[in-house]
Amino acid sequence: MRQFDGKELIIASHNAGKVREIGRLLEPFGVEVKSAGDMGLVEPEETESTFAGNARIKAHAAAKATGLPALSDDSGLSVDALDGAPGVYTADWAETPDGRDFKMAMKKVWTRCEKIGAPEPRIARFHCLLCLAWPDGHDEVFDGIVEGHLVWPIRGENGFGFDPMFQPLDETETFGEMEPERKHGMSHRADAFAKLVAGCFGG
Ligand code: IMP
Repeated sequence: MRQFDGKELIIASHNAGKVREIGRLLEPFGVEVKSAGDMGLVEPEETESTFAGNARIKAHAAAKATGLPALSDDSGLSVDALDGAPGVYTADWAETPDGRDFKMAMKKVWTRCEKIGAPEPRIARFHCLLCLAWPDGHDEVFDGIVEGHLVWPIRGENGFGFDPMFQPLDETETFGEMEPERKHGMSHRADAFAKLVAGCFGG
């Protein structure tokens, strides 16, 4: 597996929540991170039907555009009762003509479960696929997962996206209620990140 031995790394994301979480996770490695958003890079279209496929598109686009290694994160929420939806379309469920509205998107998820009479607890998983790509076209991909169930009404103001409706297994708080450090210790992103560190940052 190829090691990351540079000083600078592009975070291939325009999502401020993800950039913040990944930046924090990378702090111990003394890597200088810049986000694709800060660099004014164009967001590529996510045309693949898997998290890994879309993670690859984002990381390679940023690595090619900057000539630097780039790390992307493709993630989303899969609800068992909805056959894995919203899955790779998680961000799309929040789209409105005025930007993303996650309260609306969470309501959509809960309403769909209600409509089909899905039994509770409504089991769901967050997935995170990280892709580290180099300008020469090489890449390494790592996957992370956290299992839990959906709650309604939503609870908490921390985190981002669907955090206020997701309560991890054996926890009493949602990701939206938890202190960020606690979420970062158990999240899908932390899981994928541990694998990335073991694989490419010398463990
Ligand atoms: P992506 O940018 O296509 O990967 O979109 C992933 C979407 O999944 C984001 O817009 C978030 O709404 C959601 N998501 C991913 N990770 C998390 C998380 O840690 N907490 C809450 N929502 C998340």
